[in-house]
Amino acid sequence: MQPSTRGRDVDEPDRSPPRVAGSLPSTPVADPGLVGGSPPFSPTISGASPAPSPSTPSGIFDAALSAPSELFRGSREILQDSFVPSRLPHREHQIRQVAEVLAPSLRGEVPSNLLIYGKIGTGKTAVVSQVRSELLRRPEARGRINFITFNCANVDTPYSLLQTIGNHFAAKESDRIPTGRSLDRVQASMRDLIDARTGTLILVLDEIDRLVKKSGDGVLYTLSQINSELEKGRVVLVGISNDLKFTEGLDARVRSRLHEEKILFPPYDAPQLQDILRDRAKEVFRDGVVEPGVIERCAAYAALENGDARRAISLLRLSAEIAERERAKRITPDHVVKAKNRYDLDVVVECVRSLPPHCKILLYAILQGYERRRGGVLTGEVYEGYTKLSQKLALPPLHPRSISNYVIELESLGLIQANVVSRGRGGRTREIFVEVPVSETMRALEDDELLKVLARPRLLSQTLLTNFDNPNRTGPNYG
Ligand code: ADP
Ligand code: MG
Repeated sequence: MQPSTRGRDVDEPDRSPPRVAGSLPSTPVADPGLVGGSPPFSPTISGASPAPSPSTPSGIFDAALSAPSELFRGSREILQDSFVPSRLPHREHQIRQVAEVLAPSLRGEVPSNLLIYGKIGTGKTAVVSQVRSELLRRPEARGRINFITFNCANVDTPYSLLQTIGNHFAAKESDRIPTGRSLDRVQASMRDLIDARTGTLILVLDEIDRLVKKSGDGVLYTLSQINSELEKGRVVLVGISNDLKFTEGLDARVRSRLHEEKILFPPYDAPQLQDILRDRAKEVFRDGVVEPGVIERCAAYAALENGDARRAISLLRLSAEIAERERAKRITPDHVVKAKNRYDLDVVVECVRSLPPHCKILLYAILQGYERRRGGVLTGEVYEGYTKLSQKLALPPLHPRSISNYVIELESLGLIQANVVSRGRGGRTREIFVEVPVSETMRALEDDELLKVLARPRLLSQTLLTNFDNPNRTGPNYG
C-alpha cells in the first residue's frame, strides 16, 4: 500500500499516501455524524467475493473483462487520486490568486515566492497543477519559464533535491551532477546549471512541511536566497503545505522569504463536496445508477473529515466497487456505509503496519488488556503485558519512559485514547481506551512477521461459514 515513489520526483504530482494517517476513525458507523480522521489514503476493494467461476483457468479474467460494467460508463481513472479534472468547482478564487502571483513570469518579471497552505484534500495540488498547465500553454512562457514540481515526500535528502533541480537543466549527460560530492559542491553546480539559462524557474515544493520535518530548513534557506547569487536565471519558490503551522518553526529569514505571498485553502463543506462529486459521477457512471442520497452521504462523511475531497472521491469509488461486487444494479446509500467502514478499517490496518516494532508490541498488549477487561486498561497493566510479550518475542523490553512516549504517539494517531485518572494518594496514572476495532486490529498486528507467533487460532466463524442450522455447531473458540 506504500508504493515506492523514489526516482519519480520531477513534474509528477504524486498523491501517494504519507506513511501514517493523521488521525484515525473509531468504530464502524451506520451514518454520517460519527468521528473519523482524514487519512490521505485510498483503499480499493480486494479479497471480496470472487467472480463467477470460469470453465478454464486461462479464462479467469474473460468474464470480468467481457461483461460491460452496469455501473461505469467512463474510465475508472476519473475516480483515482491522480486524476485532475478540467474543472475545479469552488476553487475558482484560489486558481485566480495563484495565477495572479505567477503571472509576472509571463512578462519576464520575477514573481514573489508563494506559500499555499491548507488541510489535506483541499485541492492544493490540483489547483497548482491546473495553473501550471494554463501557464505553460501561453506562448509567452516558451523559453522563458521552467516549471518543476517536487513532491517532497519523495525527496530523501537536501542533496538529492538540489541535485535533481540542477540535473533538470543539464543539457547533456556530462553536465549532470554526480552523486558523492559535498553538499556545497552540489549547491554550486546546481546554481551554475540554473544560471546557464535566462528565464524563471518556478519551483513547486509540494508537501514542503514534510521536507522540513525530515531534513530541517537548511535547503530552503539555500533555495530562498539563491537569486542573490544568480546572474541570468531566477528562481521562484511555491511551497505547498498540509500543515497550517508549518512556518512556525522556520528560520525567520526563510519564513519571511517564503511568505512573500500566502494563500489559504479552506476545507470544503458538504454542499461543495457534493458539487465536486456530482461532476465526477456524471462522467464516470451510467445514467440513473447513483441512487439519491449516495453523493450526499459521501460528502457528509468527508465534510466531517476536515472537508477532504480526496476522501469524498475515494468513498464514492469504494461504494461503486462494493456495489459492483454485489452485482447490484445501482449504487445505494447502504453501499456508502459499507464503503466507509471498509475505508476506516483499511486506514487502521495501514497505520498499524507502519508502526515501529515496540510500538506494535505495546499496541498488542493494550488490545489484549482491553479485550480482557472489556474496557479501559491502566498503564501499569499495559506495561506488564508489554514486557511479557517482549520476553515471549525474545526482545529486551524498552524503558517505561519510552513506552510512555509510544502511548502518546498511539494516541496522536487516534488508535487509542489515554485519560489521566487520579488514584488518590497513589498519584496519577492513565487509563487507556481503544478507539479502533479490536479483533481486526489484532489481526493486522498478527500479520506482522515479528508478531505472528502471538497469533491466536481464529474464530471458526471467521474462516468458515457458520452453520446456524446445526444446533451442535461449535461456538466461538479462541483456543
Ligand atoms: P491537497 O493537495 O490539498 O491534499 P488535492 O489537490 O490532491 O488535495 O485534491 C485531492 C483530490 O480531490 C484530488 O483527486 C483532486 O483532483 C480532487 N479535488 C480537490 N479539489 C477539487 C475540486 N475543487 N474539484 C474537483 N476535484 C477536486
Ligand atoms: Mg497535495
